Amino acid sequence: TNTSLFLSVNNVEVIYDHVILVLKGVSLEVPEGGIVALLGANGAGKTTTLKAISNLLGVERGEVTKGSISFRHEQVDQLNPAELVKRGIIQVMEGRRCFGHLTVEENLLTGSYIRHDGRAAIRESLEKVYHYFPRLKVRRLSQAGYTSGGEQQMVAIGRALMANPKMILLDEPSMGLAPQLVEEIFLIVKELNQQEKVSFLLAEQNTIIALRYADYGYILENGRVVMDGDAKTLSENEDVKEFYLGLS
Ligand code: ATP
Repeated sequence: TNTSLFLSVNNVEVIYDHVILVLKGVSLEVPEGGIVALLGANGAGKTTTLKAISNLLGVERGEVTKGSISFRHEQVDQLNPAELVKRGIIQVMEGRRCFGHLTVEENLLTGSYIRHDGRAAIRESLEKVYHYFPRLKVRRLSQAGYTSGGEQQMVAIGRALMANPKMILLDEPSMGLAPQLVEEIFLIVKELNQQEKVSFLLAEQNTIIALRYADYGYILENGRVVMDGDAKTLSENEDVKEFYLGLS
């Protein structure tokens, strides 16, 4: 099977403010049903890669200067974020931005705005989110701004699920969370992958956990992919062990 028929990023270059070359020709693929990790230090270009895919760079005055991105046989690099959401690609931003003044449930419902399949179907998706995140059901009437960091990360992922995604671009899900919560979030990602057939591209600085849950990984340094391979191979690589896993 040809994996490039799902998400394929080809030689993408990104410039911010017409000056700095932040991505210097990044290519990567996410096969259908895969969990792929985008690894690398702070500033390596992980977030920029996700934003290039979901076309969120414009608002930050960044631009793709070269390269192409395709999703399920279609060239998608000229589509705006709303059009990408309709095709099933959704980005969950770093810092789990939710609407602090809305309740947990209202936040989740904002994720379904693009759908036209009726209230019953949306209700069903909501129940599905509560099935995967029982804590959100308990907290559904709480103001999101007053929930914990872990709960807000769950709201952010749950909100993405409300759009019926095929692929979620997940930015730094572990950020600021206690180890046990990180584990909980990754377990749910794995479940969503296996049971709901959602594919994931996840940017993570926490290489250890990312390689435990991903099938495949790409390591970015300075806007370039310097290494890629299946998760097991990467986690056994001496350089990866030394520089990213803190073992040697
Ligand atoms: P982080 O873990 O901090 O998100 P990252 O690997 O995701 O790191 P990016 O956020 O993609 O890295 O940033 C890559 C480079 O681009 C950094 O040098 C950063 O300073 C620069 N950069 C990011 N956003 C902008 C912006 N809006 N304008 C100018 N430069 C930016």
